[in-house]
Amino acid sequence: MPARPTVDSVWPVTPRSGPRSRAEWAQLNREIENCRACPLGSLRTQVVIHRGSLRPRVLFVGEAPGASEDKVGIPFVGAAGKRLDLLIQQLGLLESEFAIVNVIKCHPPGNQFSEVAAEACRPFLARQVEFLQPIMVVTLGAPALAAFRPDLLPILGSAGRRFRWRGLALFPLVHPASAARSNAFRRRWEQDGAALSRLLSRLGAGGRTATGPTSEATV
Ligand code: SF4
Repeated sequence: MPARPTVDSVWPVTPRSGPRSRAEWAQLNREIENCRACPLGSLRTQVVIHRGSLRPRVLFVGEAPGASEDKVGIPFVGAAGKRLDLLIQQLGLLESEFAIVNVIKCHPPGNQFSEVAAEACRPFLARQVEFLQPIMVVTLGAPALAAFRPDLLPILGSAGRRFRWRGLALFPLVHPASAARSNAFRRRWEQDGAALSRLLSRLGAGGRTATGPTSEATV
């Protein structure tokens, strides 16, 4: 079976360090906005590119925009986004310390993750990670983990633990939407979020207001 393509397959041979200029960010965003490289390009309301800092310490990577995100053009603004926002608050991350992107930039109908779109979108994800230069990538859900380390699937075997990817810390979590679907996934989301909180404190990121995971009743 051929190896599953990842972000590595489109990673620049000589990645640059240092912040990118406004012009470089504008160019990347323009390319994404104008993209029609896969069928989702003709179905979207708008592309969903990025939310948060341009120099984050922690980069959250989700799967694809949902219907709410398609309407406003911002990642994780729906129900799953509220759960993620609560985790970010519990982690004690400042606005300047995190960013959120998706593997796929256009909303797939029925929220069905599309491998064709992921493949076409992969160069954009690679450039976003390279531009943002986080110290840690937190993947949300199996397709996001597969974009970096498909060898770590299935996700329940690796979520909540720290791995490495290109010198960065890689921390898989289950998708926040899955936490709404069953108590088992909710517990897993909370336990793994607490493990992430402890790790970030050790790395010197976040932890300013962290109080540990709250119960479902407060979500
Ligand atoms: S999903 Fe990605 S590759 Fe497909 S049209 Fe949108 S931006 Fe382009």
